[in-house]
Amino acid sequence: MSKTLLDRCEAGGLRLTDQRRTVARVLDAAADHPDVEELHSRAAAVDPRISIATVYRTVKLFEENGLLEKRDFGDGRARYETTDGAHHDHLIDMETGAVIEFVDPEIEALQEKIAARLGYRLVGHRLELYGRPVRGRGLKKD
Ligand SMILES: [Zn+2]
Repeated sequence: MSKTLLDRCEAGGLRLTDQRRTVARVLDAAADHPDVEELHSRAAAVDPRISIATVYRTVKLFEENGLLEKRDFGDGRARYETTDGAHHDHLIDMETGAVIEFVDPEIEALQEKIAARLGYRLVGHRLELYGRPVRGRGLKKD
């Protein structure tokens, strides 16, 4: 079991107000890639006093401390996910907006090979695939 965002804040000496702790819990509970508005509506369901500005500032603080990663899936909305999990890439379903996480050892190895060929040691990458479902296949919604 990986450490929660809250655990990692405490381990890193990051002091959190109650409202920031609520935002951290919402992020820990998220299995998807919410944007700030979505995070705000989830946090406000727990504590209605939390403003969207607080969510913005908290997300920025976590991001600056390497606890969150910002994602851009091509629709102009910044989405967030915690960085505790193992590395994965994303496929975005262009019809439903669903985001599918995947890991492919061949892609990982290929990227390292490309970096090495260009004289670099790979330290990270981002990969987003955009696709439309093939009829009768792809991710079903509901
Ligand atoms: Zn993801």
